[in-house]
Amino acid sequence: MSRVYNFSAGPAVLPEEVLKEAAAEMLDYNGTGMSVMEMSHRSKAFEEIIQTAEQDIRDLLKIPDNYKVLFLQGGAHQQFAAVPLNLFKNRVGDYIITGQWAKKAWKEAKLYGTANAIASSEDKTFSYIPDCSDLPVDENADYVYICENNTIYGTKFHTLPNTKGKTLVSDVSSCFLSEPMDVSKYGVIYGGVQKNIGPAGVVIVIIREDLIREDVLPETPTIMRYDVQAKAGSLYNTPPCYGIYICGKVFKWLKKQGGLEAMKERNERKAKILYDYLDESKLFHGTVRKEDRSIMNVPFVTGDKELDTLFVKEAEAAGFVNLKGHRTVGGMRASIYNAMPEEGVVKLVEFMKKFEAEHA
Ligand code: PMP
Repeated sequence: MSRVYNFSAGPAVLPEEVLKEAAAEMLDYNGTGMSVMEMSHRSKAFEEIIQTAEQDIRDLLKIPDNYKVLFLQGGAHQQFAAVPLNLFKNRVGDYIITGQWAKKAWKEAKLYGTANAIASSEDKTFSYIPDCSDLPVDENADYVYICENNTIYGTKFHTLPNTKGKTLVSDVSSCFLSEPMDVSKYGVIYGGVQKNIGPAGVVIVIIREDLIREDVLPETPTIMRYDVQAKAGSLYNTPPCYGIYICGKVFKWLKKQGGLEAMKERNERKAKILYDYLDESKLFHGTVRKEDRSIMNVPFVTGDKELDTLFVKEAEAAGFVNLKGHRTVGGMRASIYNAMPEEGVVKLVEFMKKFEAEHA
């Protein structure tokens, strides 16, 4: 068996321990004589899996009791619609446009009401986070929306926006459980799990209870109603059972690593290894304003497209895969999520140094 260093932005690397455990339990989960894929979502065994998973993510993020945790499907894209459908009262949402994902969410909200773009960093290809200390928040806004970590561009909100009292909604898909969060500052936190937590197919929504309403927009599909899913404990219909089971294992793994404080420390150390090299390299350089850098997604370029292509090719041959930047921005991107070992980053930097010596 040979595992590569997988720098994919998502679906992404998962902890080897978790994969091995899942493999060992594939034919017979906990004496049930079947895999989790084959069992009823109403069975005792699955009930225990989903309830334990919920408790573990509550422990990790210290989620206050007045928040519900939902395990849903449809990815982040479904939440682009579910957020306005469930939260619109005045049919007004304020969006901070820091990249393609925020922009898609903003466009989706426009299908249901007025979505204002109250700040944007598009003028510099989303390479920074705009100043959000005094934004023109609409007095009728039902919420202010951010994409907290911008997977494609490698930026992160290190300070939350001043929402002037409005509910904050955050897409945390690419920084989920990478560091502690103060959940009480948010109305809704959601993220697809396929980067830091598990296989594609599960999206986790953490929502303050007073935002869960029955009088959602009348056009809201039943399956997308937070009140319906909350009442049913995420079991209104068949949930993505196997994905939830893997998420549960990753939560246990995170606890074993020392929780989110320990993950933050480890992730910052990993990112620093790469950023320090990018700052000193004569060939490679980072593309993001320093104070807005993400510790999860690290984009970089050589400034020469052909050299970028050659680097990606040679890196792949050396066992460092999925380093090509997003198709819309080019260059390279190393996604160094929770499960990427520090050794992977150290070895990548060694490889980059060697490439630099050969090509600078
Ligand atoms: N938001 C962010 C921050 C993302 O990185 C992505 C995708 N990679 C999405 C949303 C879209 O996620 P999905 O494909 O699960 O809908």
